[in-house]
Amino acid sequence: MRWWGWGEDGHDVAMPEAATTLLREEIGADPGIARRRPVALEEVRLPAPRLGGAAREQLAAAVGVEHVRDDREARLSHAAGRSYPDLVRLRSGDGSSAPDAVLLPGSAEQVRAVLTACAERRVAVVPFGGGTSVVGGVEPVSDGFGGAVSIDLRRLDRVVAVDSTSLTARLEAGLTGPQIERALGAEGLTLGHFPQSFEYSTVGGWVATRSAGQASTGFGRIDELVDGLRLVAPAGEVNARALPASGAGPDLRELLIGSEGVLGVICDATLCVRKAPSAERYEGWWFGSFPEGREAFRVMEQADASPDVARLCDEAETRFSLVFASPGGTVERLGRAYLRARGRESGCLAIVGFEGTAEDVERRRVRTGSLLRAGGGIALGRRPGELWLRSRYAGPYLRDELLDRSILVDTLETATSWSELDSLYRATGDALRSSLAERHTPPFVMCHVSHLYRSGASLYFTFMARQEDDALAQWRAAKSAASDAIVAAGGTITHHHAVGRDHARWMRAEVGEMGLELIRAAKERLDPAGIMNPGKLLPS
Ligand SMILES: Cc1cc2nc3c(=O)[nH]c(=O)nc-3n(C[C@H](O)[C@H](O)[C@H](O)COP(=O)(O)OP(=O)(O)OC[C@H]3O[C@@H](n4cnc5c(N)ncnc54)[C@H](O)[C@@H]3O)c2cc1C
Repeated sequence: MRWWGWGEDGHDVAMPEAATTLLREEIGADPGIARRRPVALEEVRLPAPRLGGAAREQLAAAVGVEHVRDDREARLSHAAGRSYPDLVRLRSGDGSSAPDAVLLPGSAEQVRAVLTACAERRVAVVPFGGGTSVVGGVEPVSDGFGGAVSIDLRRLDRVVAVDSTSLTARLEAGLTGPQIERALGAEGLTLGHFPQSFEYSTVGGWVATRSAGQASTGFGRIDELVDGLRLVAPAGEVNARALPASGAGPDLRELLIGSEGVLGVICDATLCVRKAPSAERYEGWWFGSFPEGREAFRVMEQADASPDVARLCDEAETRFSLVFASPGGTVERLGRAYLRARGRESGCLAIVGFEGTAEDVERRRVRTGSLLRAGGGIALGRRPGELWLRSRYAGPYLRDELLDRSILVDTLETATSWSELDSLYRATGDALRSSLAERHTPPFVMCHVSHLYRSGASLYFTFMARQEDDALAQWRAAKSAASDAIVAAGGTITHHHAVGRDHARWMRAEVGEMGLELIRAAKERLDPAGIMNPGKLLPS
């Protein structure tokens, strides 16, 4: 991945003309503004490496000298994740958070040797999967330490075992989404975990952050797929055995899933897989308003009739999606015709997707359709669903394009019960709008519901504004206002992006003082020197 953005050089996504117009109207974005490109690699400011010769030798003995890297590119590409503030800093040439070295162990035993060496020398350790964290999860923090290293897990890339009878696969932590799907696909299987970061994120990162795939309403939440896992910590190893279920006391897996690298390194996980679908059907629906669509989704979910993918855009996101996905095309025309027929000015687009056998897909589709129709929905047919499916990984490429045009663009997500969803939606949106508008920039705030549960759902916000001179202060104010509003409205500080550095401040409200003490106690036992991913998950 390029060090300043998403994807590889040459893979860019062009912004449709209609989208430029929308951004000009909504946030006053200036289409004539000079493109602000990232500085050249040689211009990035990096701190001098701090590891002494003896430490370097010990680490080289652990992983092999060729797997200790401290060149400019390796250090820079492990300096931050892929959040908006990360990219703003990197693009401006600030590489001050770069680790002193990047280590590439090839086995759990080598991970163990690295952790032992780092604990002895009090060197901070950041487990690094795909580096796609959007919450500051992989940024090294070395204050009070003798240095910081990133353990890049890309060499742990073996499919250890596939049990096609039990439908499980034991996968090493560094495997990426495409590597897994290729390997499982050859056996007629799929993991079915498709976060938008699928192209680069890894098994270890998913498990360490409780990530949610786009099909999570059906089967794609990683925490529901973990049967067992192996964590190597400075003080020893924890093996949560792969079992379908167990009554033997508290579930150790639950302590390790979502541990965000602060307890140790997840070296492999046994995950539930499924037969690769032989049929899929994605389609669009239209609702007169966000509350109408939300209510239809609630009824559908509580009747056990949800599709695998279920997304409902609010009015703002609907407008944005229509312009980006199909400027002047079928979806936009169908949407507008619907609005005209009902004498309305706006409405909401929903995408539903089913995967399985042809028979199963058809049976579920009919049942879901009748409930959505009863809830006020109008079927738009397959085209909107197929367009969404085709462009579902395009967003991050577009973000680079928006950053080039000096536009603040970020996302945040939360979840709550169905009864509280509307007030959480309003409180979060209002907080974002007033924080950004207070600074004399009209913002564009949009939201969708994308993960449904019997008792509630998640909300996913995207917000944009013209970038101010101090882009980081502008972002910090908006993020802080939204996070305070989420907590005050009873939502979770994160539904799937994890805590990292950016949400740690709100963890006390999330789990309470004794909850924090419990997590700290586990950390002190597994990581007595406190070297594992400092500054993440737990508030200071
Ligand atoms: C464009 C974009 C789209 C995204 N879409 C989604 C989405 O749809 N759903 C979603 O849930 N998230 C999404 N994310 C967030 C991110 O991709 C997820 O959090 C993902 O699970 C991180 O995986 P990774 O391998 O990149 O982990 P990293 O970013 O490398 O690490 C994330 C955290 O996990 C820790 N970690 C990584 N590997 C290990 C390991 N083996 N052992 C212990 N700790 C480890 C790190 O120290 C860090 O704290 C998105 C991010 C971006 C940039």
